[in-house]
Amino acid sequence: MKVRVRYAPSPTGFQHIGGVRTALFNYLFARARGGEFILRIEDTDRERYRQEAMEDIYKSFDWLGFHWDEGPDIDGPAGPYVQSERIALYQEHARRLVESGSAYPCYCSRERLEELKAEQRRLGGAFGYDRRCRELSPSRRRKLEKQGLSAVIRFKVPLEGTTVTSDELLGSIETANTEINPDPVLLKSDGFPTYHLANVVDDHLMGITHIMRAQEWLPSMPLHVLLYGAFGWQPPRYCHLPMVMGSDGQKLSKRHGATRVVEFKEKGYLPEAVLNYVALLGWSFDDSREFFTLKDLQELFSLDRLNKAPAVFDYKKLDWFNGMYIRKADPQRLGQLLTPYLQGQGWIGQKPSPEERKKVEALVPLVQERLTVLSDAPALVGFLFQDVPAPPAEQMIPKRLDRQRTAEILRRVRSLMEDFDSVGEEENEQRFRRAAEDLGVKLGDLLMPVRVALTGSRVSPPLFESIRVLGVGKTRQRLENAIRRLEES
Ligand code: GLU
Ligand code: ZN
Repeated sequence: MKVRVRYAPSPTGFQHIGGVRTALFNYLFARARGGEFILRIEDTDRERYRQEAMEDIYKSFDWLGFHWDEGPDIDGPAGPYVQSERIALYQEHARRLVESGSAYPCYCSRERLEELKAEQRRLGGAFGYDRRCRELSPSRRRKLEKQGLSAVIRFKVPLEGTTVTSDELLGSIETANTEINPDPVLLKSDGFPTYHLANVVDDHLMGITHIMRAQEWLPSMPLHVLLYGAFGWQPPRYCHLPMVMGSDGQKLSKRHGATRVVEFKEKGYLPEAVLNYVALLGWSFDDSREFFTLKDLQELFSLDRLNKAPAVFDYKKLDWFNGMYIRKADPQRLGQLLTPYLQGQGWIGQKPSPEERKKVEALVPLVQERLTVLSDAPALVGFLFQDVPAPPAEQMIPKRLDRQRTAEILRRVRSLMEDFDSVGEEENEQRFRRAAEDLGVKLGDLLMPVRVALTGSRVSPPLFESIRVLGVGKTRQRLENAIRRLEES
């Protein structure tokens, strides 16, 4: 049997890590099993529908770099893939259940249901519909209809017995039918389906073989299995994925940090790092391997390596992955990825000139080993784009040294700039070493004030490379300014 799986987001908010995990596992499962992965938009809740959420789905997955085989944007044999375009199908299926006696119209007014709720609250029980319309006689039904009362369609949950369901990860689950919501609405009075009806009808009509979704949907599994039974259909296999938690054991939310895909993108995470990390939220290959490309995962993913325990989202670990992927990135690509962050500072134009592009290319080696996220770059390379005013003397003077000695160091380094460009890396290193020896200071104490003079900061990219990118002219000028600052007193 060919595997068919789906990701079925409701466009009510932004794509977040949990959704990405669900989509990714479905995608990988389809790929590993030579099956198909479908995107279906569950947009029947018109009050919560948001157009931006729709756009965010496409943007997020474009960025992450994996795609569905069938979906609203590319269509396919089981379309349409947007539920609001399938309303007639749900109505027809609801009617079928009414005809076969598995569902019934309920004419109860909103007021009546409110009263019922208030009454149940007074008695301290949970709310549930009292099934008043379940056994209306046909003539009574006709009469109510004649009065022009609008009806919802409710499902007849069996009054006794148990429903046995099975989950690939959690095993067999028995639910007493009395525990199931008494007669949930399938079709609202405006003709729109509820989640339960649309979800079940679509999974069946779209030929879905496995439902992999977040564990928060586990409670609806018994009802869905009953619905499949009422239609005379075979239910798909279920696999409810472990929750994704923050470090405090609570469901991951914005309290813990970024959760939306766009946020990770803006902070400068690489998509391959996010994918690699998300793949490990509830899945592992073995006890040691951590690095996986999307292609690796497509081959290696399997349900029997899923973890039952909730997954904890560890931002530090993601940072670590991201750093590793930045080190591995092709420098030219890294330059392109960094460009928007430099443009954001106004340091290079929206359409970079050839010189600007060269400059970006040149600064990549300065930061590639140092970045955790791309947005760290401006702080590291700002000195290449902005004037650095002479820093305060105290900032330049190494411990154990004084103003004069520091000025002496800078004068000596200034003289080394004469032919910095014409001698090689090694020769320069030796010259700096010799200078330190001559002056009787440690190499570190020689480099520190130079670093501060050039970059305005004690932490910076490697000094020689920085000088090369900054240029000897500007380097001399900044040394000059710094010397002057030290000489003032
Ligand atoms: N529309 C539901 C959601 O937003 C789909 C749940 C399911 O996969 O069955 O997650
Ligand atoms: Zn009723």
